[in-house]
Amino acid sequence: MNRSTILVVEDDTPVRNLMVTTLKTHDYKYLTAVNGSEAILFASSYSPDVVFLDLGLPDMDGISVIRQIRSWSNMPIIVISARSEDEDKIEALDAGADDYLTKPFSVEELLARLRVTIRRLSIMKSYSEKDSSVYVNGKLKIDYSAGCAYLDDEELKLTPIEYKLLCLLARNTGKVLTHTYITQHIWGRSWDNDIASLRVFIVTLRKKIESAPDSPQYIQTHIGIGYRMIKTD
Ligand code: CA
Repeated sequence: MNRSTILVVEDDTPVRNLMVTTLKTHDYKYLTAVNGSEAILFASSYSPDVVFLDLGLPDMDGISVIRQIRSWSNMPIIVISARSEDEDKIEALDAGADDYLTKPFSVEELLARLRVTIRRLSIMKSYSEKDSSVYVNGKLKIDYSAGCAYLDDEELKLTPIEYKLLCLLARNTGKVLTHTYITQHIWGRSWDNDIASLRVFIVTLRKKIESAPDSPQYIQTHIGIGYRMIKTD
């Protein structure tokens, strides 16, 4: 039995019904909202575990819904975008969304995004409980207080930028980070050059942590958008 409660914000009835049916079939609890003001009200009064948020709402822009929720809560938000262009997804991620789905999406995709996000939630909870200074993900380990990273208990020889990048991705495991977000955190700015450098650092980092850099297990690429650290078993 899944006890997570999901808030579905979608004004398009067939899409909303599909989502609700999927959630019901998989034993999730759910709430629905059909516009932005209901979304904000339900998010604050019911504290759902995850929010699915359509960006094209009748009363307000989905981005403003994210900003409002983010002013008081870190609850995971997965945006649903009707456009295949990356700009609105990037804007949503930079405003604080965790992940995105592009319409039309399959039931499997919906469930996969939800699983990643719920896993992220449990990681976040266990960190806050233990206040852990050690990060473990499969064979990868980071000892934040010592400033060292290990693979299979062997210390990795990382450059300062690679280490910073690895820590940033690790601390946000399960969340898609945009190029702008990453470069802002690493270099304090986001110029085109920085995004190009970021690609290079991702390549060198992958060579050190991935057993098959061409089919990465830890760092997932979101083309045109950014990167995400995946929790492996
Ligand atoms: Ca819509």
